[in-house]
Amino acid sequence: MSLSQHNAIGKNLQDVREKIAAAAQRCERPLEEITLLAVSKTKPASDVEKAIEAGQLAFGENYVQEGVEKIAHFAGHQPALTWHFIGPLQSNKSRLVAENFDWCHTVDRLKIAQRLNEQRPAGLAPLNVLIQVNISDEASKSGIALSDIDALAEQISQMPNLVLRGLMAIPAVETDYQRQLAVFTQMREAFDALRQRYPQADTLSMGMTDDMPAAIAAGSTMVRIGTAIFGARDYA
Ligand SMILES: *Cc1c(COP(=O)(O)O)cnc(C)c1O
Repeated sequence: MSLSQHNAIGKNLQDVREKIAAAAQRCERPLEEITLLAVSKTKPASDVEKAIEAGQLAFGENYVQEGVEKIAHFAGHQPALTWHFIGPLQSNKSRLVAENFDWCHTVDRLKIAQRLNEQRPAGLAPLNVLIQVNISDEASKSGIALSDIDALAEQISQMPNLVLRGLMAIPAVETDYQRQLAVFTQMREAFDALRQRYPQADTLSMGMTDDMPAAIAAGSTMVRIGTAIFGARDYA
């Protein structure tokens, strides 16, 4: 039986990988620069299992409790999985993120960074963090202004239990490719500036199912893909 017959998620993953490769080739970027994060929010562990069978090891979750349950479900898995927290983070949930996840993409204020730093268990590697930037979505309360990146980066860089790995953005929904590209390019410029000061900052997390090619063209190093891999989400 072919992969597609017994594992639609595996087939979807293959398609997404091909789209990433095509987008990278169009802008002459090495494919190794781009990590695919499979966003499994609202999807059962059995779907994650299918993605793992198809070779996917990096997963993104938006809801703390749901993510922690999946992390526990797959604890000890070999090869190791990496779990990325990509949802809005309230301070009363920071401990669960610090104790369970490998990455947090949504650090957008000092208080959250301080809590994650204090709550990261000593036995674990430092938590990889990204600063979330509010690049275009004025309606969103998440993310800081471009002009505030420097100050927060400086503070995070002093925290021993966090590693500043880069920037993340969720732009406002936009269907026009050129306009998607323009917004992502602003992020790329901010990322280049950040990297001048923090050489360990190697990650620019941007691009979802509907804007992935533009994100890659602008320089994304990590695309966060849910729908194209796992299908539409049911929030009912
Ligand atoms: C849900 C979500 C994604 C995945 O979005 P799709 O459009 O399903 O690919 C990526 N990033 C964040 C922050 C999300 O909340």
